[in-house]
Amino acid sequence: MQSYKVVTIALDNVPSPEWRSLLKGIEIWFANISRNLCCIGFDILPYVALGVNQYYFTPAGGMGAPPRNSQTLIKHVLDCLDATVVQQFEHTEKHLLVIANYAFKSHTWHLHNRGLRYSIVPSNATFGAVAHELGHLLFDWPDLDWEKSLGEDCLMSLGALRYNGTPALPCAPLRVKQGWIDPIVVDQLTTVQDLSIKQIGTINWQRHNVLVEYRVRKETACLLIYSNKYEGKLFHPKIIGRIPVTNSDGRNLVLGLIAPKLRLRYSF
Ligand SMILES: [Zn+2]
Repeated sequence: MQSYKVVTIALDNVPSPEWRSLLKGIEIWFANISRNLCCIGFDILPYVALGVNQYYFTPAGGMGAPPRNSQTLIKHVLDCLDATVVQQFEHTEKHLLVIANYAFKSHTWHLHNRGLRYSIVPSNATFGAVAHELGHLLFDWPDLDWEKSLGEDCLMSLGALRYNGTPALPCAPLRVKQGWIDPIVVDQLTTVQDLSIKQIGTINWQRHNVLVEYRVRKETACLLIYSNKYEGKLFHPKIIGRIPVTNSDGRNLVLGLIAPKLRLRYSF
């Protein structure tokens, strides 16, 4: 079990019932997608009066040059908190989620001298935007700038924004890296149906381990294919293809479906 405590503070007021239910939903969502291996708890602090105007810190959505950025704002926030709470950050908990005003853009940053990492989100942030920032904050997942048609398949790319309700899952390489799922080894006998149950598999493709993932998006089933080629790292989160599949694709994956497509689009 991986447990994460996220100290949460709303700068305008106490978090609304909507925010509390959004955070509860995020706890449940991460528990589900990690198969209950990841447990996130939000420790919501009471409202504190900041004594500074948030708008002073909002050039570039809070990511401007110091002192007018979110880093300086976070220092003010720490100054306003109870000393015992700040000690938590200094010695144990180092994750902070700040709900700020509309002029901030969602981002995750840190205070160099205190080892504190924080995410800051505007009070109208979506479920997907908050989940995306927690991906940075808790798991160090990077932003993935995949092309548009592929990017909608990962929380750390456009998949954070695309869905009104639930965002896209983190892509297979990120979930495997977190230890949330073990890929099955795909061989000559593996079918699409086998993979749809296990979701993620690996194929040894010309001495490269290629990760494949079964997904359903907009009621269309597809296989996502990832490559580890680009940085020589196992399961580097680079997507290289998306292949629609149908019920009739019960044949073996390697020869019937994946192999021709890989040959067509990419040379390993
Ligand atoms: Zn990001």
